[in-house]
Formats: sequence, structure tokens, C-alpha cells
Amino acid sequence: MSTLVKGGRVVTADDDRLADVLVEGDVVVEVAHEIDAAADRVIDATGMYVLPGGVDPHTHMEMPFGGTTTCDDFTSGTVAAAFGGTTTIIDFCIQQRGQSFADALATWHEKLTRCPPLVDVGFHLAVTDFEGGGGADALRELPAHGVSSIKLFMAYKDALMVDDRTLFRTMQVAAQTGALVMVHAENGDVIDVLIGEALAAGNTDPVWHGRTRPVETEAEATQRAIHLARVAGCRLYVVHVSCAPALEAVARARAAGWDVRGETCTHYLFVDDTALAKPDFEGAKYVYTPPPRRPEDQEALWEGLADATLSVVSSDHCAFRWADQKAIGRDDFSKIPNGAPTIEHRLHMLHHHGVRGGRFAMSRLVELFSTEPARLFGLHPRKGTIAVGSDADLVVFDPEREQTIAAARHHSRVDYNVFEGSTVRGAPVLVMARGQVVVEGDQLVGSPRGEFLSRAGSHAAHV
Ligand SMILES: [Zn+2]
Repeated sequence: MSTLVKGGRVVTADDDRLADVLVEGDVVVEVAHEIDAAADRVIDATGMYVLPGGVDPHTHMEMPFGGTTTCDDFTSGTVAAAFGGTTTIIDFCIQQRGQSFADALATWHEKLTRCPPLVDVGFHLAVTDFEGGGGADALRELPAHGVSSIKLFMAYKDALMVDDRTLFRTMQVAAQTGALVMVHAENGDVIDVLIGEALAAGNTDPVWHGRTRPVETEAEATQRAIHLARVAGCRLYVVHVSCAPALEAVARARAAGWDVRGETCTHYLFVDDTALAKPDFEGAKYVYTPPPRRPEDQEALWEGLADATLSVVSSDHCAFRWADQKAIGRDDFSKIPNGAPTIEHRLHMLHHHGVRGGRFAMSRLVELFSTEPARLFGLHPRKGTIAVGSDADLVVFDPEREQTIAAARHHSRVDYNVFEGSTVRGAPVLVMARGQVVVEGDQLVGSPRGEFLSRAGSHAAHV
């Protein structure tokens, strides 16, 4: 099967030109100004952007958390991803305490086999129990399992949180194997105290989710992780940076030449802390961690995206239905399952507000949305660009197509959308995953043939 995408404006992280793209089977075989080859299908992309498919390195499909499980599995979640132009996800395999690292990965592979994905999927491993998982020796085996990034939670006390000893020992192994260490940076001990005080005082509404997680608790943990990574000699990737003080810690490290990267997520740019105070428990829709922040933090994040203090915008897609899952915490904000479901609208929102809004160029959007996550997680140039030999993951994007975002029309199984009612100009009209057209207009036309992405260690530490 061959496909010729004709006449589009091909935008990659370092190129922006009119070109045709010829696809044979799963891969791109030619990119040139005028291609006259015969093809089984010709797609007219006149007036459209042709972009590399998005790489979303932060998702939580079918993840057990807080006594329930996220409502998108690998099938439904990747369908929603594809409608938003994302053709690769990297999901967090969560180790249960006492479970070996190998068994944790087997559990996640079972989810992937049972619910086959529409697009390709890689795994990070979230270490919650260093010794129980098999210790340093077992952690050194991860690259052989195709996993080259390790996540640690510095928050969620008595659940996912690790102590500094585990954090540091994992970092030491990563320094040896070249794995990328990812941290959820919040001071979980201090937050646990603040939550206890709030509940003791009878404060149970969702707004207290934000009030018990002040920006300083994120900034302190970010700074701590950065310094511990420096001692261990590993590369560090701080997930979901949400506020100016944490961003400043990342900026200082980068200015000093340390190998530290920061990610933010779409919702931090558009939802502020007033959302948590919405009446009638509607604030629970915005209970995710870190919480929505102040408008001045949002402005700092936009600047960080433009000046490359931040490297990636992910979704942190973590879908819990409002009606019956968020409702678990109706009388106690600390029991509301944390997460926001935003996998489908990363590109729409970044294009409309980032590119149209004059914050950055289209090529920078591609870098944040696709190229840089592919590079950092060992997938480039197979993913993250449009080049000869790359996977034919393509998004034909109409910069004029208007859409009003609504839960009634999105493809996640979740029953609300944090961007409900936002009208954006610019949307995908056709999405191709490894050569197969999977989305056309509003129709799902592809079948699940996503594969597990075995990722070798990416570039070694140069700290
Ligand atoms: Zn997450």
C-alpha cells in the first residue's frame, strides 16, 4: 500500500516548506517538492499543514489509583489520541509494592494485548518499591525489556511515593544505564500534613486540593530532585512543571549546563486555580496533581515554552469519570481520584493559543508536541519527524477548521472535558499511523494495529 500526500506545507522541528510525502507500507520513502510517483491513494493537502504525528510521553491508561481505575484503556485512549493528532504514547507502567519490575511490565503488556491500541505504545516504569522490585540488578535489566525511562513519585504518601533513598539509588542505576529519570516533584510528606490539618478543620471541598499543595511544595521537590540527580550523575526529566517557582529551579539548572528537562501539560496553560472553587462539586473535574495554578504561573509556563526552559508539552491523560469516580471524594477532597483527561486536545489548544496567539512558531509547536519527546525517549528519528525511513505517522492539519471542544464529541470514555466550550481554529483532518489512515474528518477509519515500542537507551549522560 502506497500513499502520496500532495501539496501540503510540511512542518518539522527544523523545516517548514511545501513538499509532497510518499509513503510505502509503514514508512516515509520520499519527501520532495514535486513527487510524480504512482500511488494507491493520493491525498490532496493543499492549504494544509503536514505534521509528524504527536508523541505523548505521559499517559495513564487503565491505571489503578485511589481505589478505582482510569476509564480509558489502551484502545479507547489511543483512539482519542489519534483524533488529536497523537500517534505515539508512552504510558506509565506502575509497579505495585512487592511486585518485581518484570512482573509489573508483564501486567502492563497484558493490558496492551487485551485492549489493542490504535497507535504505537511505549512504557516507562514507575518504581514504587526498589528492593521489592529486585533492586539495582533488576533495574539494570530494564533496557533489555525495551524500557529506557524510570519514573519516581515524590508525592502520594503511603501509595506511590518513594523516599529519597529509593529516589537516589534509582538515579545511581540510571546514571550507569543511561536511563532517563522522571520525577513527579512535590513534597509528599508536607502535603500529607497539610491535608490532615484541612480535613481536621472540616475543609472537605475540592478547592482544598489546591490549598494543600502550595507552589513551594513543588518548587522544593523540584530543586531536591535536580540536586540529587546532579550527585548521582543521571539525566533528569521533571514531569508536569506547573508553577513559576518550580520552573525557576529548572531554568537555573539548565543555565548551569546540567542535563535537566522540564515538561508541562496542556491543562496547566489554560485552567487556573479558580476552577477548583466551582460549585456543586464541579471543582472535582480539575482535581489533578499538581493542581491548577495562578494566572502568573500560566504566563511563566508560556514563556518557558517559548524560551526552551521547558522541552515538552504532554497530556498527563488520566481519565476518571466525574459522575461516579471523582464522586468518591464528594465528602473528602483527598479521596477524589487525581487526574485530567486531555489526550485529544493538546494539538488543538497549542496551535490555537500558542501559534495563532503569537507565542511561538509552528515548528516550535512540532518540537514540543512531537520531536523533543521522541528525542528524549529514544524514539527519534523513527518518530517525531517526517524524513525518509521514519514511520509514516502523519497529521494533515487544516489551520482554518473550527471546532468547539465538548465532551459530547470527544473520544475518551470520560464524561467531561476540561476545555469544554473552547472554540479553536485549526484541527486535524486526516491522521495516519505507520502508513494506515486511522482518522479521516470525524470518522475513525483505521483498525488497532499499534505495536509496543521497544526503546533503546537514548544518548548517555553528559553531566
Ligand atoms: Zn501523570
